[in-house]
Amino acid sequence: MSLHRFFVLLASILALGVSRSAEAAAPGDPTPKPVSLTFIANEGVLIVGSTQKVLIDAPFTESYGIFAVPSAAVLGQIRTATPPFDGLTCILATHGDGDHISLEEAGLHLQRDTRCAFFAPTAVTSAFGKLPFPADLTERMKSAAPGESPTRVKFGDLEVTAVPVAHLLRPPTMPPPPPNVAHVLTIDGIRFAHTGDMGPHTLDAIRRSVLPGEHIDVMIVNVYFFAAETIDSARAILAEVKPQVVLLAHLGPNAPAKQAEPILKLAGFPRMIALDTPMQTYSVSREENGIRIEKR
Ligand SMILES: [Zn+2]
Repeated sequence: MSLHRFFVLLASILALGVSRSAEAAAPGDPTPKPVSLTFIANEGVLIVGSTQKVLIDAPFTESYGIFAVPSAAVLGQIRTATPPFDGLTCILATHGDGDHISLEEAGLHLQRDTRCAFFAPTAVTSAFGKLPFPADLTERMKSAAPGESPTRVKFGDLEVTAVPVAHLLRPPTMPPPPPNVAHVLTIDGIRFAHTGDMGPHTLDAIRRSVLPGEHIDVMIVNVYFFAAETIDSARAILAEVKPQVVLLAHLGPNAPAKQAEPILKLAGFPRMIALDTPMQTYSVSREENGIRIEKR
């Protein structure tokens, strides 16, 4: 090797070293804090990152006699925007059922926290107009359009995509199910999809939607999605989306861990964790082997 070539090689090795260390955290920089996810009740979660805080499918008050609801204390904290529900970037609702969102309670929060936005299917946001809230509130409200196309909105540097995925089917004796969306969002590099009451009959919609190519890390899925009669469809959908972790939600208030047990044992599904303890907080971080979720 000529001396010249040696120096060129040396220079490129040094440059590589410099650029690598520039990519790593600067000295004194704190290690990035894991994202925190707090289970509220039913399918409600609070996701908190370094600069963003998102409440999904809460607050709500309706149990319909069978579902878990947040405690009065938690509802009070949300209503008055007190920690951990202060400084919310936005409240997202997957659909308008009373076991997912209370417009009255959400409206009180939005009045208290005038920087918090709200995003839900049009069927939900249009109902706000009928309530006695100030007009400025409707300006912070974003609607996911009906139909098959996703709706993308930005709240500061947070982008949320609402993907229409049909609600669980209902017996003909019940009113038809409401429009339901999956909210897809990235917080501190971790991609979440909250699918609300998505049914297992939605494979075609999933294939059309942004969910498959999206690299979902953590997917929040309701327990009825795993009904025995439609388990093959459920498996096919999760094989398509390939989330790293499924958070199993919408468990009932009585013995939720027991209700989750047979589902957690099912073969051919991604790793699952049951959201069975209200106000339990989890740390969510990305490690070499994938997403790590642990109780705090
Ligand atoms: Zn529900």
